[in-house]
Amino acid sequence: MDDCIFCKIVDGQIPSKKVYEDEDVLAFHDINPAAPIHILVIPKKHIAMLTELKEEDEMLIGKIYTTINKIAKQEGFEKQGYRVITNCGKDSGQEVMHIHFHILGGKILGDKIVG
Ligand code: AMP
Ligand code: ZN
Repeated sequence: MDDCIFCKIVDGQIPSKKVYEDEDVLAFHDINPAAPIHILVIPKKHIAMLTELKEEDEMLIGKIYTTINKIAKQEGFEKQGYRVITNCGKDSGQEVMHIHFHILGGKILGDKIVG
């Protein structure tokens, strides 16, 4: 997508602090971290949001989660735990319309909404 900032990060037109990359998935540090660990994990394919997911994307989204697991090991925060959040649409406050998975950690995440 031409005017999508995360597609531009995938293309290298906008710089990012990369944490992980393979042919399908990219992870980079959030520019405005909400916690000591704040990494965004995205599919390279442009999918605007959860409601745009198709059956053909099921493998890709599964891969996102196994990649999150890899990143947690690689970055050394697997044991201490973390939270994964995806905003979808207006009520969630989603700002970037390229689906992404926030990994948050590095502190006690006391602001639990669910559970
Ligand atoms: P959301 O509100 O779920 O759409 O989250 C969008 C996230 O993208 C926010 O946490 C922003 O700080 C982050 N963000 C926006 N632009 C960039 C960028 N160029 N590099 C890294 N993170 C970004
Ligand atoms: Zn995009």
